[in-house]
Amino acid sequence: MPAAILLAAALAVAANPSLPYSLSGLSQVGPYVVLVLAVTISAWFNRSRALVMLASLLAAYVGYNLASELGSQSFAARAVFITLTVLVPFNVLLALAFPERGVRQHRNYRWLLLGLAEILTVIWIASAGRTSLSGTAWRDVLDHWLLRYPPTPLAARLLIAVAFAAALARAWPRRGSKELRKEPRPLDIGVAAALVAFFIGCEWVRLPGAFGAFMSAAGVILLAAVLQESHRLAFRDELTNLPSRRALEERLSGLGPTYTIAMVDVDHFKQFNDTHGHHIGDQVLKLVATRLAEIEGGGVSYRYGGEEFCVLFAERTLDQALPYLEELRKDIEYYEMAVRGGDRPRDGKTGTRLRDTRFPDKTLSVTVSIGAAERDDTLIRPALVIRAADEALYRAKRAGRNRVMR
Ligand code: GH3
Ligand code: MG
Ligand code: MG
Repeated sequence: MPAAILLAAALAVAANPSLPYSLSGLSQVGPYVVLVLAVTISAWFNRSRALVMLASLLAAYVGYNLASELGSQSFAARAVFITLTVLVPFNVLLALAFPERGVRQHRNYRWLLLGLAEILTVIWIASAGRTSLSGTAWRDVLDHWLLRYPPTPLAARLLIAVAFAAALARAWPRRGSKELRKEPRPLDIGVAAALVAFFIGCEWVRLPGAFGAFMSAAGVILLAAVLQESHRLAFRDELTNLPSRRALEERLSGLGPTYTIAMVDVDHFKQFNDTHGHHIGDQVLKLVATRLAEIEGGGVSYRYGGEEFCVLFAERTLDQALPYLEELRKDIEYYEMAVRGGDRPRDGKTGTRLRDTRFPDKTLSVTVSIGAAERDDTLIRPALVIRAADEALYRAKRAGRNRVMR
């Protein structure tokens, strides 16, 4: 998706000179509309990283346009351009360094103060040599080879590259465990892609309309990422990364005449939690969920709640689905889960040093009971099929657990 947006921006730049007069204003106003909208929505959706980057982009775009009024070859325009190419990736790096805590934090004005300080600094730098107050020192600083223009100064390129790498590192799951197969987080991918758009915009700053077009592209990329992330928060379960109950409810309302629903419940899980601790319990739920996610035969697994899961076979009868459920049950029974020691220190280095000594990794296994039912002439609604599956699950528990019942 980001690639498509970047391509659209490039096409817009190529088409810019040939736009009819009535549309030429678009390249001026467009970036403002996109960036203000994106800032508003990311603030509303409480996504602080996106907000920091979008606010930086908006300020950069406004600042550069203002300074360019003094002439695109003026010292002010050059100074503003150089500082914004450094400050935008700097802010992004800073935002990436802190965990996502949301926009509204109790009495946290640090970002506002930082933004204000940056704006004042840019004004100070841009006015170097114009007033006695600002002095001329900045003129020499901006002539340093690290900051020399054109187009994007070397220091800025380095910062952009580091921020890009940091965003990608954030996007991919921290403990590179294959088993937890977490999908990359859309927002961090969005930040990385928006940095690419920002970089292209800076490189092509002399092309008419290119700066605005690529700032808009960055805005659209981040906006789409904020929406995608919010959708994911609603429809994915955070712990197991399976689709959530809400996703199941939606799916259930669009089913055809043939389907099978299975309810899966972990056996003696309360006891398991009591013995090994809630933290290990959570890890085991994740690992069970990876087996559930891999169920075959067209089944889709959802986290129904707690340690209960639901598997939906949208096109299969009960008889067709049962072998796959039996396969799943065995799969979980024989799956030896390596979980990290319970009170292992969080800090990665200490963790590695102490492995196999004070906090050994444990190998655990659990079993599940499964109850399944299909739609038929009496069970005509998904809610009724689920209830029947629940009753079958109850029978499976009563019959001694670790089995599939219909
Ligand atoms: P049974 O074999 O009859 O299902 O026994 P059970 O102990 O699994 O019984 P039940 O299903 O009623 O217990 C649910 C327990 O699962 C309660 C709670 O301790 C645990 N549990 C539910 N959700 C979570 C969770 O998200 N994380 C962890 N660690 N434990 C959970
Ligand atoms: Mg239960
Ligand atoms: Mg249970």
